[in-house]
Amino acid sequence: MPPRRRHELPPTAGLPLRLADLRPGAPALAATVAAQLGTPPLQLTCSGTAALVIALRTLHELHPRRRRVLMPAWTCPLVALAAHQAGLEPVPCDLRPGHYDLDPHALRLACDERTLAIVPTHLAGRVADVDDALAAANNVGAFVIEDAAQALGARRGNASVGLAGDLGFFSLAAGKGLSIYEGGLLAARDPDLRERLAHTAARIAPPSPRWELRRSLELLGYAALYRPRGLRLAYGDPLRRALRRGDPVAAVGDAFSLPLPLHAVGRWRQAVGAHAAARLPAFLERGATRARRHLPRLRAIPGITVLDDPAGARGTWPFFLLLLPDRRRRDAALDRLWQAGLGVSRLFIHALPDYGYLAGIVPAADVPNARDVAGRSLTIGNSEWLTDADMETICAELERAVA
Ligand SMILES: *Cc1c(COP(=O)(O)O)cnc(C)c1O
Repeated sequence: MPPRRRHELPPTAGLPLRLADLRPGAPALAATVAAQLGTPPLQLTCSGTAALVIALRTLHELHPRRRRVLMPAWTCPLVALAAHQAGLEPVPCDLRPGHYDLDPHALRLACDERTLAIVPTHLAGRVADVDDALAAANNVGAFVIEDAAQALGARRGNASVGLAGDLGFFSLAAGKGLSIYEGGLLAARDPDLRERLAHTAARIAPPSPRWELRRSLELLGYAALYRPRGLRLAYGDPLRRALRRGDPVAAVGDAFSLPLPLHAVGRWRQAVGAHAAARLPAFLERGATRARRHLPRLRAIPGITVLDDPAGARGTWPFFLLLLPDRRRRDAALDRLWQAGLGVSRLFIHALPDYGYLAGIVPAADVPNARDVAGRSLTIGNSEWLTDADMETICAELERAVA
């Protein structure tokens, strides 16, 4: 294993906060991001998950007889929990082989007049095939919700992701690019739908001084510790403790409990986010440049695939999502890299039906491609602190693991 370091690299590239970001100011976060991305007005929510709950509750009021929400079988467990909390049924749908996109054939088999929504997902900053989800949805009269939690700033053609479907949402959680510790942004092209979403949010996510105080303290902690020295304490040490006790689900933060909090976001956190957002376009541009520099080296390793965007799309690069030839070699690479402080990790540990704690929420399903991707993928954080020497160390270990 490479020598343990005092510094810890994060598994995803978050936008580091500065002291000056913490000053009070206009609560202009949603408006600032909407202007940068060129979207219609965005609705700020207390998490990406909350945005999805608000979206699903609103759509369900329009189509009360439809209860099924089709989602990738390999995605964030919060997506399934959001559907459950909205009183609906999460339905895991298999992926295309070796890919993050929903499998078109599996999607059509799963779609029927009970389908409320399909959730194509822009995973790892990569741009998903929303057109196929729209075609499948149109066949049965369902809605499309783009999960862009990991893809704030990603573009398809000249437009932000999140606008081709009926709805889209972004996450502002810790580590997901721009962050107010927990937050989300909800997008909808149709003004009537936006008004309905705002009504739903006012009803089910009212202000909560208790939650806002907690999130404000957490945001201060995040601002202080999201740097290579602080991350060892805040991220690396808990990760290594979880792995030592054999709990990878806890190690990557995949374990969540219900109910998910629903509340409004206070003015101070909105101001902090708006200050930091001023640096977002340049931050994303530097991330993309870094990714372009590192990609050829990663791709030169025989047997390794780095997932990329379809033609005409320009995703963001919070981390690299890699597929190794098989689980054995992926695990061999992780044995040497996961605890090394280099920002190498896994995304979601299991396919959705395979999380023990989701039993009773996610139905059993035959999703071989999702299980395959869960079993042979790993991630490399593309943070500003990742040096060429770090990447060389990582690539050398990957070469040894796949040899
Ligand atoms: C993180 C994440 C979510 C949930 O967003 P939060 O802001 O953490 O609630 C949803 N979908 C995907 C793919 C995610 O990675």
